[in-house]
Amino acid sequence: MILFFGIRPGKTINIDLKQIKCPHCNQNNSLFGESTPNFFHLFWIPIFRVSTTQVIHCDYCKKGYYKEEFTEEMKAAFER
Ligand SMILES: [Zn+2]
Repeated sequence: MILFFGIRPGKTINIDLKQIKCPHCNQNNSLFGESTPNFFHLFWIPIFRVSTTQVIHCDYCKKGYYKEEFTEEMKAAFER
C-alpha cells in the first residue's frame, strides 16, 4: 500500500495593512499582506496545520518582507 502524505498550502488570506507605512519607501496604503497556512495532509486531506507562511509586499517600491523582517505593527496586523 502506498501512503500519500506531505505538506500542502491551504487557502491564502489577504491581510489589510492600509494603516501601516512601508518602512522602505514610507508610502501609505501600499502594503499588502498574505497569510498561507501549510497543512500536513494524508491522501490530500488536511490533518493539522504545521506552519503559516506570511509575506508582505509593497506595491510602490516592490519590496517584499518575510516574517523575520516584520515590524511590530506588521505582526500585530497579522494577529487581528
Ligand atoms: Zn515600499
